[in-house]
Amino acid sequence: MAVEVSHAPLKGKLVVRNLGLVLSGDLDRPILDADTIIAIDGRITAIGKAGDLDLDGAASTIDAKGSPVSPGLIDSHCHPVFGDWTPRQNQLGWIEMGVNGGVTTLVSAGEVHLPGRPKDAEGVEALAIVAQRCFQNFRPAGAKVIAGAPVPELDFARDVYAKIKASGIRHIGEIGLGTVAKGSDARKVVDWCRELGLESIMHTGGPSIAGSHFVSREDVLEAQPDVVSHINGGPTSISHACVRALCEQAQGSLEVVHNGNERSALVALEACRAHGRLKDLLIGTDAPAGSGVQPNGIIRMVTLMASLGGLPAEQAICLASGNIARKRHLDGGLIAIGQPADFVFMDKPQHSAGKDLLEAISFGDIPGIGMVVIDGIVRTGRSRSTPPAHTAPVVV
Ligand SMILES: [Zn+2]
Repeated sequence: MAVEVSHAPLKGKLVVRNLGLVLSGDLDRPILDADTIIAIDGRITAIGKAGDLDLDGAASTIDAKGSPVSPGLIDSHCHPVFGDWTPRQNQLGWIEMGVNGGVTTLVSAGEVHLPGRPKDAEGVEALAIVAQRCFQNFRPAGAKVIAGAPVPELDFARDVYAKIKASGIRHIGEIGLGTVAKGSDARKVVDWCRELGLESIMHTGGPSIAGSHFVSREDVLEAQPDVVSHINGGPTSISHACVRALCEQAQGSLEVVHNGNERSALVALEACRAHGRLKDLLIGTDAPAGSGVQPNGIIRMVTLMASLGGLPAEQAICLASGNIARKRHLDGGLIAIGQPADFVFMDKPQHSAGKDLLEAISFGDIPGIGMVVIDGIVRTGRSRSTPPAHTAPVVV
């Protein structure tokens, strides 16, 4: 069962020492020359070599025992409803298990799996506000769930979006999950959202089990949303030629998801590299979905990008962390001064053919997670969803 935990970050000083590798989440500099991280009141204040840092007065010390660390991973695309339950698979504890898979922040693309979900403006607004407020107060295993993503319908006028914005909602649900799906209709919604300061995201590809409409390359290019949601389909993909065209011509971020077409995800990676758009590429799960919930969905996508996609593993991690934080204006996703102390201690899984974490990922092995820390607080020890990590940290 999900455990509700305090919002408050760790009070005082956290010292993390004996790190074997520090992955930053930043594509410009994915590996940092450091073995120690210090955080105060849940925010990173120093990163470097132990000999150069003040390690005294720690309220809490983690000895990484040589384990690598990455920033908390972000799921750019999920569909929560209420609590740590999904009606799609009637499953409990899926968010907590996502934390076991290294995810510390999840972004809702719409609370669409709610049975009988409303489609009138009043109901859609109310649902979004309830979802957002509930997840502000409820953090399964410490996860930060950014929920409240109202799905656009054709009869919503501009004032509906203005009210949504005024209520504290930051982004809409996927255009295309409701009746707005054609390019010209979508363009109007995207323009209103842009004027109002709401982030817009748009379903791409064939209909999903949640009842979405087909959204084509032409629809996306006419609308130009802030995020091209699951460019590799959710789960049915547009053609590879259309994926390539969007990677060249769509102006927003380009997202690939675990519950999509894996071959199309690799086509998108290749096209983003060819067009110098790797910083625009984001990873999500689109879970829960027809194929279930996947606690390891994000690290499986990272591994796909690195192994079959040939992207260096330290860069693949950035697609599920710093890239999403930057493009979607979120806190976290980076190991950098001022960022929240959200850490995933991961290493090669035991008996991997890879000599270290990065080689194991490049060989296609999903990493073992030894500990997850959110806001400076230890949320899991050895993961309940990954194979055992070669090294795992201990709290001293
Ligand atoms: Zn979708």
